[in-house]
Amino acid sequence: MFLIVDDDLSIRQLLLAMLRDIGVSDIKSASSGVDALELLDRHPQQFEVIIVDLCMPEMDGIELLRKLSERNYSGRLIVMSGLDKSVLRGALEVARRHPLNVVGAIPKPIDVDELSKILQRTATLSGRVATSYRHMQVDDLFDAVTHRNIKPYYQPLVDIRNEKVVGIEALARWEHEALGMIPPDIFIPMAEREGVIYTLTNLMFELALKDFKCLKEIGYQLQLSFNLSAKLLHLQRLPDNYVKQVRKFDIAPEEVVLEITESFGIVDDHEAMETLNRLRLQGFRLSIDDFGTGYASMNNLLNMPFTQIKIDRAFVTNASENDIAKTLLESCLKLSHDLELEVVCEGIESEQDLSLVKQLNGSIAQGFLIARPKPLKELIRWLDSFECIIKKQSS
Ligand code: C2E
Ligand code: MG
Ligand code: MG
Repeated sequence: MFLIVDDDLSIRQLLLAMLRDIGVSDIKSASSGVDALELLDRHPQQFEVIIVDLCMPEMDGIELLRKLSERNYSGRLIVMSGLDKSVLRGALEVARRHPLNVVGAIPKPIDVDELSKILQRTATLSGRVATSYRHMQVDDLFDAVTHRNIKPYYQPLVDIRNEKVVGIEALARWEHEALGMIPPDIFIPMAEREGVIYTLTNLMFELALKDFKCLKEIGYQLQLSFNLSAKLLHLQRLPDNYVKQVRKFDIAPEEVVLEITESFGIVDDHEAMETLNRLRLQGFRLSIDDFGTGYASMNNLLNMPFTQIKIDRAFVTNASENDIAKTLLESCLKLSHDLELEVVCEGIESEQDLSLVKQLNGSIAQGFLIARPKPLKELIRWLDSFECIIKKQSS
């Protein structure tokens, strides 16, 4: 079910009509945050998508976002605002930090085409995916980890200056008997919340190292990028455990890049800082994932032993058509060059994205244009044929 929250009746009516137009019939609306919360409390778990206006009297949209997060709302959100774009960007950041799952931001006056695209995408997703995930329980996730139904897929990273594959990123996938392949955005936050993230990460690390060893044995000298939730940095045993793990597979820590996700809080966190420094001392490379999205990103860089930044795909995908994204992309790239850090641009989806990154002196690229994440067998096939193409081009 969809929920529209806006104090303006005409906007509620417009949204209702548009949603019905694209085939969504289960819709409720509320004229204030208070009403919305009441509805939510009466029908918990029923709203797959909530569309929130930010400027409302009484309770504004930002406060509503906080209250939704306090209620562990796990559906999708679309935020709208008639104020300038910085307000929307701010709200997106707030939502991300809670964390809430925002799938779109709509400036007012509403561009009907733009809105229709976002609604269609969300409606399809919620029909096909979110509804089925609603019944997913924490116990399912425990089971999946115990039965090793979480598997790594791999996405290549390519140096666009010489067209060489330089690494692969391991991305978790949950193979669910009834629901099919569940993406990490759904289960990683759950794993973090429910204390399963440590065991899940250990399983992923073991599987990824095993596959990486196999790639080495057939002659691929790459780097393995591995996502590590910042929430694990409290564990003092992490550096020693990870060194032991990599050695077990004859892999050097220097071959592994640990991408720290959700790194917002770590600047002020003395324990996390210590773990990061010890991981680096042991030889692991460290990357700030989704760079540019957190207020703390800049501080992280200056005070911590990171070796790489990964610019969030929000600043890369379609950047050539979006002046704000393009400016941010340019300054992130300049910053990384000035600080002599390796930089990866993720989310390259089109030739335009790729040529913009080249033009701005970007070096490493990752994105659907190059390759989608795939299981090891397919990755090997892809790597073999990529080598062939490059050899042919250069001969
Ligand atoms: P991430 O680490 O930033 O990974 C990149 C995500 O962007 C991946 O999504 C990848 O499939 C997607 N992507 C790559 N190229 C493109 C593109 O051109 N366009 C678009 N639209 N997307 C692209 P995925 O696999 O769904 O992973 C989502 C996030 O889940 C990851 O973001 C990471 O934060 C988290 N994650 C995945 N695996 C793990 C894990 O093992 N542990 C932890 N802690 N987090 C993980
Ligand atoms: Mg990553
Ligand atoms: Mg990222």
